[in-house]
Amino acid sequence: MPELPEIEVSKRVLAPRLRGEVVVSCRVLTPGFCRNPAPSELEPLEGRVIRRISRRGKYLVIELEGRKRLILHLGMSGRFLLDRQGPHARFEIRTLRRRLVICDPRRFGRVLWRLPVLGAEPLDAHFSPASLARILKGRAAPVKALIMDQRLVAGLGNIYATESLFEAGIRPGKAGGRLSAREIERLARACAAVLRRAIRLGGSTLEDEAYLDPLGRRGRAGGAAALYGRKVGRCGHLLRLTRRLIAGRRAIYCPVCQK
Ligand SMILES: [Zn+2]
Repeated sequence: MPELPEIEVSKRVLAPRLRGEVVVSCRVLTPGFCRNPAPSELEPLEGRVIRRISRRGKYLVIELEGRKRLILHLGMSGRFLLDRQGPHARFEIRTLRRRLVICDPRRFGRVLWRLPVLGAEPLDAHFSPASLARILKGRAAPVKALIMDQRLVAGLGNIYATESLFEAGIRPGKAGGRLSAREIERLARACAAVLRRAIRLGGSTLEDEAYLDPLGRRGRAGGAAALYGRKVGRCGHLLRLTRRLIAGRRAIYCPVCQK
């Protein structure tokens, strides 16, 4: 949390409002939140026009004139706030008319100059069963860990990986390399469908309300997150937790519908 859909929704809110704005100041509000770039390196951004705002995986990319890029990541619990006040403000970009802030109670968010190495974009036209098959081929790691590995597939975290595997009828602990061609096809389709649906619903706002969009609106996909944090799936079966940890946490699945 937040994952690809929440960043995409944020991007769609921010892009039309910030495009063409002139940066007046770029400030780190909590010392240490932003190491690279160092706070002093942010000064040259002042006076530059914001050309474009895009998304890659779970990262928001702000492109400024003069080929400068600022990469923002919300970590575990961050959110963007546009022209609003909120607690735990860590980083701020002011333009002539706007103020964009990253609020992050747990401080896992980051501001970077460049994107790390990222894997396939699941909503990209090139993301296909064939590309997913190449990613999973020969791998003994659990399929859930593989699709959450940002270097392999960019954008899926715990919530949407859980949902995608449920929708595809595949157990999270199954070795990636042991998926059949048919399962891979179902999974590739499920990942894209689950993410698209979540974007349409404005992302997931869970009970902790950690995620709200930059204008403070709740996402409605949380209500459709059939598995995350529940005991019964939308299939009506009692859900189960894996015994071993997958990607650092116990995974939830339906023992009847997921094979
Ligand atoms: Zn079931």
